[in-house]
Amino acid sequence: MKLKGLLIDLDGSIYRGDTPLHYSKEFIEFLRERNVKFIFLTNNSTKLPEEYMEKLGKMGISSNIDEILTSGIATAIYLKKIKNQGTAYVIGEKALKKVISDIGWKLCEDEDIVDSVVVGLDREFTFEKLRKANYYIRNGAKFIATNPDKTFPTENGIDPGAGSLVVAVSAASQKRPFVIGKPSPYMGKIAIEKLGLNLEEVGVIGDRIDTDIYFGKRLKVKTFLLLTGVTLKKDLEKSKIKPDFVFENLEYLVKFLKEHLEK
Ligand SMILES: [Mg+2]
Repeated sequence: MKLKGLLIDLDGSIYRGDTPLHYSKEFIEFLRERNVKFIFLTNNSTKLPEEYMEKLGKMGISSNIDEILTSGIATAIYLKKIKNQGTAYVIGEKALKKVISDIGWKLCEDEDIVDSVVVGLDREFTFEKLRKANYYIRNGAKFIATNPDKTFPTENGIDPGAGSLVVAVSAASQKRPFVIGKPSPYMGKIAIEKLGLNLEEVGVIGDRIDTDIYFGKRLKVKTFLLLTGVTLKKDLEKSKIKPDFVFENLEYLVKFLKEHLEK
């Protein structure tokens, strides 16, 4: 099998919460040994890549800054591509605002018009923020969503995700957003561009059939489902989306790659 690069999901694939999953360290070491490039992809815009490096480091997994792509970073890359220095109204947390101002875009609150409205997870979301986003979009700002996840699991159960705020803004403004994060292929295109590879040399690894595997299908790359997270065997049987390969855990995936990777 021709495989030179992997887009790897984090939660449910490499770790679960703060606990590394079985064989995650060995898996990454194996990829390095075999010169398979990779990028960790996360839809979470509330953390910086540095924070993921630190988290992975604590689990014995070394990574560099270019190997981590958050939906926040991908959003900043997108903004930079559409305009070198623009203005944005951002519903989001510190990390998202930082990555957008780091690329030279100005964050605005009180101007009459802005180029873009970016909506990510904001745990201090208010009516006033919804009102401003709606106002700017109705005045012609481009509407961008970091990711479409309506919920995400926490220690306390299911919390509302960025996607729930996106739906609110969408309902008010009557506009659909341009979505950056998985399963939108946009984040994948950015990642593959960073890897400098062609589609047929790339694979996606993840634990969710409806996001990770669907994302891989939309990108037209190989898909590897891990049964260590959200999607269970019974979900897989019911799903119309079929991954190319399914593994109980990362150890089986490494075993498979050892046998099938082109030398
Ligand atoms: Mg996951």
